[in-house]
Parts: sequence; structure tokens; C-alpha cells
Amino acid sequence: MTDYRRLRVALLGAGAVGSQVASLLLRHGDELADRAGARLELAGIAVRDVDAPRDVDLPRELFTTDAETLITGSDIVIELMGGIEPARSHILLGLGSGTDVVTANKALLATHGPEIYEAAERVGASVYYEAAAAGAIPIIRPLRDSLAGDRVVRIMGIVNGTTNYILDRMDGEGADFADVLADAQRLGYAEADPTADVEGYDAAQKAAILASLAFHTAVPLEAVHREGITGVTADMIEEAREAGFVIKLLAVCERLGEGGPESISVRVYPALVPRDHPLGAVHGANNAVFVEAEAAGSLMFYGAGAGGVQTASAVLGDVVSAARRHIAGGTGVGESTRANLPIVSIGHVLTRYQITLEVSDEAGVLAAIAGLLSDGGVSVATLVQTVIPASDGTDRESARLIIGTHRATDSALSAAVDRLTASDVVERVVSVLRVEGE
Ligand code: NAP
Repeated sequence: MTDYRRLRVALLGAGAVGSQVASLLLRHGDELADRAGARLELAGIAVRDVDAPRDVDLPRELFTTDAETLITGSDIVIELMGGIEPARSHILLGLGSGTDVVTANKALLATHGPEIYEAAERVGASVYYEAAAAGAIPIIRPLRDSLAGDRVVRIMGIVNGTTNYILDRMDGEGADFADVLADAQRLGYAEADPTADVEGYDAAQKAAILASLAFHTAVPLEAVHREGITGVTADMIEEAREAGFVIKLLAVCERLGEGGPESISVRVYPALVPRDHPLGAVHGANNAVFVEAEAAGSLMFYGAGAGGVQTASAVLGDVVSAARRHIAGGTGVGESTRANLPIVSIGHVLTRYQITLEVSDEAGVLAAIAGLLSDGGVSVATLVQTVIPASDGTDRESARLIIGTHRATDSALSAAVDRLTASDVVERVVSVLRVEGE
């Protein structure tokens, strides 16, 4: 056995991910040592309750509630506690005492990323966070390293497994949101409080992390436009299907201003995606990140976006990288935020829309609606009309209009929808959805 240098690894947290990381570190110690060029010695595991049951059997003597002492004697700190505090203080303590840090904490990085990266840069340490966006899928390293010589134009990601599971089942079964959510909670795909997932907060945190890396710009969470999926109905899914689309909760990170001053947009919302787009084929709780880069073209990263052991794979990859850096020496790779591009608000973003209306089936209605849209600069690209027979046996029929628009700004579209809602010829605005990936 090669006599490798020993690196002390402090693990903070032994929950779904942490317990798997500890187990893999202990089980594959020799192999990891050969790959890292250093023996990774699990120095201890900090938790709240040392006697709590764990997902896997781990030596009792490794557990401690004294995270600070564990951190200060370590070379690498793996933070898998989650939440903001004490995770933030522990990471800063580790960086301050010269350790490298591995974390999967998207909530912390999306809110306190710059503070943590600056602390690392001050001491020449590194922060690794492959597991913080899209779980097991390698996407941080491709954006940070593999694509560092290219220019990312756009990222479209399905980065929340719970919402993809819900939307996919609604699409497959024609079921309602509330029924599928209740079932997802029963099966463990959704939390008892599903707000972070279904309202898009989790996806927004990941979007902020991905956009910061892709565009070399610090993207604060507040700059990410966020809409969730609670308003998506079985009818909307069915209409999408008839028009050749599937509804997905997308994190879209986009470079704008081709040929002129550049800016970026970062947004999360349910959108219509063509069924034959690679993202249209992402089923169940899987995640996928579709990256378009100037030279590389389109790239798709696909796989498990969560799960204890799957996420542990990404964490251990980071631990090996951190160990190699310790052995090689030199300063860590800091975050690249020098492009510092302005972030535009959603109102200025151009997208195509699909608007579904119920209107009275009378002469002149189509012209009136086209006029209401074009008054604000929204032009009609496609129109499908179906007659809805009167339910009361009279001959007062209505029509359902599915209007595809040319690209329009979000603010122009919102104003047009307000005009449609107020108009006498429109009985109901059924849905307004953005179209992505065409
Ligand atoms: P978890 O199951 O809730 O486990 C959290 C662990 O941290 C527990 O062992 C807990 O100790 C410990 N802990 C929490 N607060 C603590 C405190 N104040 N002091 C000491 N220990 C504390 O969390 P998880 O699902 O493993 O997630 C960990 C991180 O990975 C989070 O940032 C999460 O966002 C991220 N992540 C998770 C997944 C996933 O699939 N689960 C995927 C990607 C990223 P006790 O056990 O004693 O309570």
C-alpha cells in the first residue's frame, strides 16, 4: 500500500447526503487515496444529536457535537448541514483556518456566495460545490473549467426534481396539481411543506449559482425572476400537449444584447417546451441542464438531481479535487466574476408566448383581439380556433383561441393581457405561458 500523506477531513452533517459521504469515504478509502494522491482520513462527523439513527452504520466514536474543534484541526471541511447558520459560520471558520471547503448548500451559496468566495480568496483556499446545483449531475465543473474558454449564451435547466415529477405525472395521467402533489408527498418526492420546490425558490437558488458561473458575474438571488407551478392546471397541460408542447419548470439563464452592450437575464418559470426538445424527454424526478455555448454548440447534462447517495458522488468528486490541490499546493481557483454584466429585469426580456382565450364567437372578434395585442407591440404568429358549443342549449357559442405570439417583452405582453382581460369580446383569459427551446 502506498504511504500517502494524510489529510484530515471534517464532515459537518450526517443526514441523507452526509451519512452516504461518510460511508463511501470509509468503504473506498484505498481507492480514493490512489485517486487523490492522499489518504482521506475522516476525522469526525459533527451533528446535533450523536445518538440519532443514521441511514447507514457509522462508527459511533466519529460523532461529535463540537463542530468548531473538528473544523480547526482539519485540512478539508465538508459542509452538509444545510441552512444558513451555523453552516455559514462553520465554513468561514474553516476557510479562516486554511482548510478547503466542499459544500452542497445551494441556499447558502445563493445568498452568501460572494462573502464565502471572498473569504476563500483572501487565504488562497478553494470552495467546491458540484452538488449544489442538480445533485449528481456534473454541471459546476463543466461551467467553471470545461467551458471556461467558450462563451455561454444560454442555459435552460430542469433543476428541481420534485416539480418535474409533479408536472411529468400531470402530463402522463391528466391529473390535477393538488392530487399529484399529495401523492408525491406520500411517496417522499415532495416535502410536507412543498413551498421551496413548487414555488420555484429551490430552482431560483440553483439558477443564481449557474448564471454566476456561466456569465462570470455575481448574480444575487433577488435578481432571479421566480414563478412556481401552483397555477398549472390539467387543462393547461392538455392544451400544451395538443399543441406539441410539454410544460416544464425551467431555470433560464441568458446572455442578451448580441452585437451591442451585453446583459444577462436569470429567471425561473413554468414554460412550454417542444415535446421533441431534449428537455421534453426528462421524466420523473430527473434533472437536466441544456447549455448553449458559442463555440461548443448545444450540450445536455442529464441525471439524478437529488438523492443521498447520488449527491454523495458529486461531493466526493469535490473532496478528491480538494485533496489534489492540497498535495499540489498553490492557491485555489477563485470565482470568476470579472465580467460583471448588468442583470436585466423580467420586463425587458423577449420571449414567445402562448395565450389561450375564451371569446364570444361573433364576427369581428379576431380582428378586435389582434388589435388589442398589436396596440402594445405584440404580434400574432399562429392562431388556432375551436368552437365551444353553448352548455345551455342556446345557439350562443363561444370559441377557444390559442394564440402564439412573436417575441415580445414581458412588460408589453402583461399590458396586452390586461387589455384582453378588460375587453368585452374576451370571456376568459385561460392561460398565458412562455415558450422556450424553439
Ligand atoms: P439532512 O438530511 O437534513 O441532514 C442534515 C444533517 O446536518 C443532519 O445530520 C443534522 O444533524 C446536521 N445538522 C443540521 N443542523 C445542525 C447544527 N446546527 N449543528 C450540527 N449539525 C447539524 O440534509 P441533507 O438532505 O443531507 O442535505 C444536506 C445538504 O445537501 C443541504 O444543503 C442540501 O440542500 C444539500 N443537498 C441535498 C440533496 C438531497 O438529495 N438530500 C441534494 C443536493 C443537495 P442530526 O442528524 O443530528 O439532526
